[in-house]
Amino acid sequence: MLEFTTAQIALGQVAVDKTAALGLLGARLVEDGLVAEGYLAGLQAREAQGSTYLGQGIAIPHGTPQTRDQVFATGVRLMQFPAGVDWGDGQMVYLAIAIAARSDEHLRLLQQLTRALGEADLADALRGAQSADALLQLLQGASPEVLLDERSIGLGVSADDFDDLLWQGARLLRRAECVDASFSARLQQKEPLLLGEGLWLLSCDQSVRAPGLAFVTPQQPLRHLGQPLNGLFCLASHGDAQHALLDRLCTLLIEGRGQELLRATAVNGVLALLGGAVPDDWPSARIALANPHGLHARPAKILAQLAKEFDGEVRVRVADSAGTPVSVKSLSKLLSLGARRGQVLEFSVEPAIAEALPLLLKAVEDGLGEEVEALTPLAPLPQELDEADIVPVMPVAGAIIQGVAAASGIANGPAHVQLQQAFDYPLRGESPAVERQHLRAALERVRADIDELIQRSDVTAIREIFITHQEMLADPGLAEEVEVRLRQGESAPAAWLAVIDSAARQQESLQDTLLAERAADLRDVGRRVLMQLCGISETPEPQQPYVLVMAEVGPSDVARLDPARVAGILTARGGATAHSAIVARALGIPAVVGAGDGVLLIASGTPLLLDGQRGRVTVDPAIDVLAHALAEREQRVQRQQAADARRLEPAITRDGHAVEVFANIGESAGIDRIVEQGAEGVGLLRTELIFMAHPQLPDEATQEAEYRRVLDGLAGRPLVVRTLDVGGDKPLPYWPIAKEENPFLGVRGIRLTLQRPKVMESQLRALLRAAGDRPLRIMFPMVGQIEEWREARRMVDRLLEEIPVADLQVGIMIEVPSAALLAPVLAAEVDFFSVGTNDLTQYTLAIDRGHPSLSAQADGLHPAVLSLIDMTVRAAHAHGKWVGVCGELAADAQAVPLLVGLDVDELSVAARSIAEVKAQVRALSIEQARGLARQALALGSAAEVRALVEMH
Ligand code: PEP
Ligand code: MG
Repeated sequence: MLEFTTAQIALGQVAVDKTAALGLLGARLVEDGLVAEGYLAGLQAREAQGSTYLGQGIAIPHGTPQTRDQVFATGVRLMQFPAGVDWGDGQMVYLAIAIAARSDEHLRLLQQLTRALGEADLADALRGAQSADALLQLLQGASPEVLLDERSIGLGVSADDFDDLLWQGARLLRRAECVDASFSARLQQKEPLLLGEGLWLLSCDQSVRAPGLAFVTPQQPLRHLGQPLNGLFCLASHGDAQHALLDRLCTLLIEGRGQELLRATAVNGVLALLGGAVPDDWPSARIALANPHGLHARPAKILAQLAKEFDGEVRVRVADSAGTPVSVKSLSKLLSLGARRGQVLEFSVEPAIAEALPLLLKAVEDGLGEEVEALTPLAPLPQELDEADIVPVMPVAGAIIQGVAAASGIANGPAHVQLQQAFDYPLRGESPAVERQHLRAALERVRADIDELIQRSDVTAIREIFITHQEMLADPGLAEEVEVRLRQGESAPAAWLAVIDSAARQQESLQDTLLAERAADLRDVGRRVLMQLCGISETPEPQQPYVLVMAEVGPSDVARLDPARVAGILTARGGATAHSAIVARALGIPAVVGAGDGVLLIASGTPLLLDGQRGRVTVDPAIDVLAHALAEREQRVQRQQAADARRLEPAITRDGHAVEVFANIGESAGIDRIVEQGAEGVGLLRTELIFMAHPQLPDEATQEAEYRRVLDGLAGRPLVVRTLDVGGDKPLPYWPIAKEENPFLGVRGIRLTLQRPKVMESQLRALLRAAGDRPLRIMFPMVGQIEEWREARRMVDRLLEEIPVADLQVGIMIEVPSAALLAPVLAAEVDFFSVGTNDLTQYTLAIDRGHPSLSAQADGLHPAVLSLIDMTVRAAHAHGKWVGVCGELAADAQAVPLLVGLDVDELSVAARSIAEVKAQVRALSIEQARGLARQALALGSAAEVRALVEMH
């Protein structure tokens, strides 16, 4: 994407007129290799069609579509003309930004630029800027938008006095994440300003994260300092950001329209008056934009000129977007919409100039001075398809249902289908005091219940989940929001559900798998409280061992179960990484999740056979099928016992080929237990988990202590450490990363750490210092380009001069197909490869590894993934380097023979799988495994590969 940098800026330029200025700019673009000489004619032709003056002393000369073929590379060059250049019509330009673009990339730049310009005039500052940095800062130092929307308005709130009202206003700002918790206390210390008509203003710039204006009115009339208190503005002020908004407010009051604010019964009315939204009674109409390059400067200018002919407000927004309407009379605002061809513009005009509306639509339809080709409407879908149209089918006897394998083991028993009960409660409460009391009692009962579960559970994973539930219940933010609703007259269940639902939705909307799962926890604990409030109790469990069938099992549902009675768990929704799956695994209950809504139609009592390892459920199995499965279960138990007994021995195939079996870990604690479980080393230390366990970036000494503890515990066994792998779907709470459309394809892993070399350096130093003469292997995640590897390696080499390590190897993870395809080149430079099959599979098959319905298809045994592993191993061995596999595939019973057959040297798995994987290796012959692997590589699908392995 186009961006401004200081290198593009030339200060102090002089041009007698626009033609001379264009000549200078054109020459600079040519000189820097961005365009051919013919582009200058394009710049001139474009100006002849219409001036590229943008406003605030800035012009944005660019070529015509006909001269795009003169562009070699997209880019911009900026020239400052302190004496000014007349750009036509007396419009003086002090900064000209020449754009060379082959496509419509410059629209983005314009949008960025016009947003940055804000409402204050920058012309003088641009003209006087003394350095490229200062100029850049002017372009980038945009005042952030002041938050003013439905979240920051509270009309008719329950408040007994000024302080109460202030607290309500501050709470809205806090909820919108404009301010910190201490803001209300700070605001309280400020002098309130009476604006007139009972409206007051309080402003504070401390504890402010982003500027915002809250407006609250009390339910009943109040007085403060002997004056009426009809409404209070609470301003979280931030630099100059709020000037324009305060200006609008003052104008409104000067015009004597303050009462209109107080009379507004709906939030929209207030927003309209303060300029944030369009009033309901303004006529509006929509039209699709057909201009080939969107609403760029020239058509936008024509539109703005047309709007200026009317004596009233004209606004426009991109329909179905989150953007607020902007004034059509402002060219920079119009450009800031970044509207593209095909997007629908929604115009609204003041009722007094309703006649403007059809004229504006006509102008857009006619192309705003450009030739436009009509948009072809998309053929309507034969019928609207949504999830409701997918009718679940009741599985018949003998049917095999494929779901996601969540916890291994074979279970059989009658189905116990638990459907969610409907909650029935009044929306309005008796009184805030009574409802508050109900809620307190319900919360206390749920807390006591959870306490008991924590005491009862000896599994750490389960205890931690319940401790999180307790923290969720104690969250003051939730309590505050419920309190506000209770004061507004809602019943306790209505208020509670609304707040939980909104908090959970917010987490879900962040498109982060982990946060989405925490949202499931929030809903789970929220439902417990709701059940208490509505007097609903659990359906009694059957007496004999059964298979629990539910839409989605909340962690607390699972943890409440008696494993002696619950033979297995089957859910319609959810994925293998959900908390419920973790709990099921911890309790040793076989589970299949995400099997589809059809399972909810199974009648309670229907016999089910569930295979948690294959993710399969057989409905009402035939006797021989059942007998076969039970025999297999017995064999598995015996196999596990035999494997456990030999867990400390090496894994050597029948014909003498050794494979190392290492452990994957995410914390330094418990390393002794891992060695005791048979680990011959650590094959993957996920250091981000160590970072996540700290409230802030752990310093070098803290990290060193963590790594040292692992190395001490390993007592001379190798430690393979992966450098920090955050970003994308793995956030670190204290490391803000811009939200991305496709986080898995965004700034994550090494891409992120190379952008923050200090963090990476400090981690590497800590590792090197901790190592001493112990075997340390360092690898980098998500490497996709050779330069990434080289830069990282250079950093290690530099640090090694300072902190020598006797036994160090440096390698990369193979997680991105490009790295596997480049393995022959990379292998000459690295010391080893470790294949991260979780990511390699998602990127090879283009299936999001956390996708709720597709992730079951993201099978690492797909021949395409196996081929990439094969290429990697061949390349590494040709250079005498070793290859490990540290993704989940390494512990997959059907994958082990193939990975060994592909000549992988090391398998790194969860500690509990070590004994079993070793046992599997011992049962193999390397020659047969190699033959099997070659056959698998020639197949067409993961299912065929699995069938092949099953046959052997
Ligand atoms: C992998 O991608 O296989 C891997 C081991 O890394 P993670 O699962 O931590 O992304
Ligand atoms: Mg990975």
